[in-house]
Amino acid sequence: MERNIAIEEISDGNTYHSRDVVAMGCNDCAGCSACCHEMCETIILDPYDIYQFELALSQSLEQMLSNNLVELGYMDGFILPHMMPVLSEDDEMPHCSFLSPTGRCGIHAYRPGFCRLFPLGRYYRDGSFTYIHQIHECHYPLEQRTPVRIREWLGIRMLSQYEDFVNEWHYFLKDVDGYFHMKEEGSKEKEHICSYLLGLFYGVPYDTKQAFFPQFYERLNQAKKELSME
Ligand code: SF4
Ligand code: SF4
Repeated sequence: MERNIAIEEISDGNTYHSRDVVAMGCNDCAGCSACCHEMCETIILDPYDIYQFELALSQSLEQMLSNNLVELGYMDGFILPHMMPVLSEDDEMPHCSFLSPTGRCGIHAYRPGFCRLFPLGRYYRDGSFTYIHQIHECHYPLEQRTPVRIREWLGIRMLSQYEDFVNEWHYFLKDVDGYFHMKEEGSKEKEHICSYLLGLFYGVPYDTKQAFFPQFYERLNQAKKELSME
């Protein structure tokens, strides 16, 4: 989800790289699962998240949708999957379908990039991105937060390849969005492209015995060719 907002309004005003240390440690979220209640519909899943879910659950997107684990929604003009909010009998508010009764993430090792990131955000500029610390988002007292290196916070293997992927995906969608802006609202071609991208990057299951990144770039090249964006 892209927001056009001054970083000083939502963060400590600094930008960071994965090697940097940020005072964001929140005691391992002990006793708090606010994020998993409040943010489901804004936890947009990218193709790497879907690959991780396929690895963890051995389910395709279609199966995840029919099992009410994720749902589709419009985001920035695209149809993209996001976490599914569910309401159990005793709940006062909906929570993520993966939240356990003890308030912990039931898919922690495979959790989506946005869950790993929070309360960090990504600040995209000039064809790349840096991290920002959204200091007002986490409920843990600001003065008690402990220093953590971003690389460790994210806990993603092959982080530089992952960051390259995040960047490629973001700017690819941005380019397609630019193309959409030249089209009329509700145009059939726009609808067709949205469905095509959803099917190509999410709908066709990834081979979880193979690495994700080569499969992603193969699909990206295919999409660029199809959309004449090479
Ligand atoms: S995937 Fe895990 S961390 Fe993310 S919202 Fe759901 S329960 Fe919380
Ligand atoms: S609000 Fe902060 S402490 Fe609570 S679940 Fe989210 S990151 Fe953890």
